[in-house]
Amino acid sequence: MFEVTDKERGSGARAGVLKIGNMTARTPFFMPVATKAAPRYISSKDLEELGAKAIISNALMLHLHPGTDVIKQAGGIRGFMNFRGIVFTDCGGFQILRKGLFLGIKEEGIKFRSPFDGKKVLLTPELSIHIQEELGSEAAMCLDYCAPYGSSREEAEDAMKKTHSWAVRSKNAHSLKSQMLFGIAQGNFYKDLRVESMKFIADIGFDGISLGGLFIGEPKKISYEMIRASIRYAPEEKPRYIMGLGSPEDIVKSVSLGIDIFDSVYPVENARHGTLFTWNGKLHIDNRKYKNDFRPIEEGCGCYTCRHYTRAYLHHLLKTDEPLGFRLRIYHNLYFMQHLMERIRGSIVDGSFHELSKHIISVYSGEDPENSMESNVSNRITVLRRDDERDEQKNAADTIPSEDRNV
Ligand SMILES: [Zn+2]
Repeated sequence: MFEVTDKERGSGARAGVLKIGNMTARTPFFMPVATKAAPRYISSKDLEELGAKAIISNALMLHLHPGTDVIKQAGGIRGFMNFRGIVFTDCGGFQILRKGLFLGIKEEGIKFRSPFDGKKVLLTPELSIHIQEELGSEAAMCLDYCAPYGSSREEAEDAMKKTHSWAVRSKNAHSLKSQMLFGIAQGNFYKDLRVESMKFIADIGFDGISLGGLFIGEPKKISYEMIRASIRYAPEEKPRYIMGLGSPEDIVKSVSLGIDIFDSVYPVENARHGTLFTWNGKLHIDNRKYKNDFRPIEEGCGCYTCRHYTRAYLHHLLKTDEPLGFRLRIYHNLYFMQHLMERIRGSIVDGSFHELSKHIISVYSGEDPENSMESNVSNRITVLRRDDERDEQKNAADTIPSEDRNV
């Protein structure tokens, strides 16, 4: 189902191919989020046009509405939403961090309150697997217990142990042969627990490994420490998925550590606030200087938005809060993400990944890439920067929340 085809020297970056049934996605790839079987403001058709080979939905939310019986009748989630690509489903465990939904936790599973009708549901590992099999997703996740940042060691250890016991129960309950099952490693922000959890999950023999409970509001460098400490214990031949991470600079950093699969609402949340991704960093379309700018967001971008609309028009749509603007901005950012992943894959194959990642880190985080990269390949290129965009970045208050595994 998964094969690593190319590796970058001097880092953990790898390119590969994931085959599920008759569908193929080259890795590393990024999945747009369709929590309730609907990506925000864009359709399944749009997703296919902009090159998204895979998306992620949420099993718990779809169980609560419309119910798996409806989706099963539609021929599974792909038939229901008329999407022809690969669908991953998250178990629902992460909703624990959503205050209105989460009621409590016990050995048996997690108790939630439905946001639709207030009904209580006990999500057990067996129920989560059953839901995901009914949905017919291509890749399912084991139920996990994600402890928040700031948890004590006791809490973190308890969450990890429940996650492990649920992983075993999930594996035993899973019977749909055509569906991949990913185990989720936890361990909160304790290195030794991260290592222990990765080893435990790796030993069970899942089809893929997910790293859960990272980038949930802590300083990012702590999450990177956790990945570095534990990734070496993830089986080389299995796809590795980091849940809820999706800014351009975090993607290249994580790819260099050996991650293959990503998902995040980050590009959509940025689009909502008028922040657009370009090869020279973020462009804030609300800036007054775009009022009379009749160029596309980015010259040479092949996306629908850039082929048809100007910065001036998009500036107007943002200022007047038109839903069309939201749609056009999301389209561009998601297209950019797909194009970024394509370039990452190509660069791993032709040996230029380090240069590409240095450029992305430099224009997106303003960090000195030499200090943040794993690779020790020497600096061979001069990074191109567009100064006006950089100044603007410094001036604009960045209101975007950090990555949110909001599925
Ligand atoms: Zn574009």
